[in-house]
Amino acid sequence: MAIKPEHLPITTVGHDDIRESVRSLNAKYPLEYWSQKEEKQEFPQEYFDDFVRAGWTTMTVPEEYGGGGASVSQASAMLEEVGASGGATAACSTVHSSHISISSLIKYGSDTVKERYLNRMVAGELAVSFGVTEPNAGTDTTRIATTAVRDGDRYVVNGQKVWNSHAQRAEKVLLLCRTSPRGANGAKPTDGLTMLMADLKVPEVTIRKIAKLGRNAVDSNEVWFNDLSVDADDLVGTEGKGFYQILASVNTERIFLAAECVGMGRWCLERAVEYAGERVVFDRPIGKNQSVQHPLAQSYIELSGAALAVREAAEAYDAGAPAKEVGRLANTAKFLASEAAFNTADRAMQVHGGYSFATEYHIGRHWIELRPHRIAPVNNQMVLNFIGEKVLGLPRSY
Ligand SMILES: Cc1cc2nc3c(=O)[nH]c(=O)nc-3n(C[C@H](O)[C@H](O)[C@H](O)COP(=O)(O)OP(=O)(O)OC[C@H]3O[C@@H](n4cnc5c(N)ncnc54)[C@H](O)[C@@H]3O)c2cc1C
Repeated sequence: MAIKPEHLPITTVGHDDIRESVRSLNAKYPLEYWSQKEEKQEFPQEYFDDFVRAGWTTMTVPEEYGGGGASVSQASAMLEEVGASGGATAACSTVHSSHISISSLIKYGSDTVKERYLNRMVAGELAVSFGVTEPNAGTDTTRIATTAVRDGDRYVVNGQKVWNSHAQRAEKVLLLCRTSPRGANGAKPTDGLTMLMADLKVPEVTIRKIAKLGRNAVDSNEVWFNDLSVDADDLVGTEGKGFYQILASVNTERIFLAAECVGMGRWCLERAVEYAGERVVFDRPIGKNQSVQHPLAQSYIELSGAALAVREAAEAYDAGAPAKEVGRLANTAKFLASEAAFNTADRAMQVHGGYSFATEYHIGRHWIELRPHRIAPVNNQMVLNFIGEKVLGLPRSY
């Protein structure tokens, strides 16, 4: 049985045309395409180019900069279908790479920044990595130690980032740096951070690929900056306010990631339901056993709830809700969707028995690639911390 979007009360409403177009593009890329890309650790360039040509990779860029002027709800619908394609996180990361930085560039970029970069991103010529995480700061972003020191009309950047996706191919990185020391002159730890569009393909930057368990079609990297000069016009937003302003990217990233998880969860559930109906053991389909059937029914319920949460968060962002309100909804959606999708992949593994370990079923690829979403882009414990403190009003626990 194929589980169609209409069987899940998900983010479909009003975006059926987008979903149909994305599904027909996805259909050109069979499951083997993705397992080969994973095996060869090769970027899915053909897939990316198709999505660039169709305008999906930069659909939220305003029309005046050549984009589609689409809403976050529309982009979420598109990404959910990418998630449901069988390409797992590799496909999602390929298509959503630009969307992450675009949200900050649109909201806070000066006209110069927008003119410099958005058209080239729309044309698929410019890949931009997203550089927040650092080895010694981890989840505590206020502890980042990469500095940008103003020197006339330049900033000079020194420090290290880790886990930057796409840095092997990206020409630029939207980089979060410290422009004043943490807590200087009684400032809040969240003050003094600044976003810059920095170069990656220059001698002052060293990039080393991280060997990973999965999603190898998209690279992850350690990146070092040694006296890198950045044009002061490449400042994004307001110096010292980067922590608050990067929330535009962080919140949309959580919504997009949640939409992708719903899509991947749907794919895993479809495969599990199909297999449970076909596989006969003890003279009956395994799906006749409640211990097989109930977990799949539970996945259906969990994914449905997650999908509604994604839709609510995306619509709140589009309606211009305050950042704190979007944060509550985006975090809720991210938590529900990442847990629902991984649990579904895990249940699909169980349903497939020993065959779950055979690469030809592609369940294992989803299982591996969904696991990090309980950790990245934010771990689900921090989501609970956020809800506990900012929504429930409990004492800060970290
Ligand atoms: C595939 C992948 C791609 C990524 N891409 C990017 C990228 O493009 N750009 C980028 O900047 N980053 C990227 N990241 C990094 C990602 O955002 C971080 O890994 C994530 O934010 C967690 O940080 P950390 O790994 O340092 O975990 P840590 O901060 O070391 O935390 C480890 C664990 O401790 C627990 N924990 C920590 N603090 C608390 C607390 N206060 N309360 C309760 N529990 C806590 C959590 O369970 C957490 O998982 C990527 C990561 C992965 C795996």
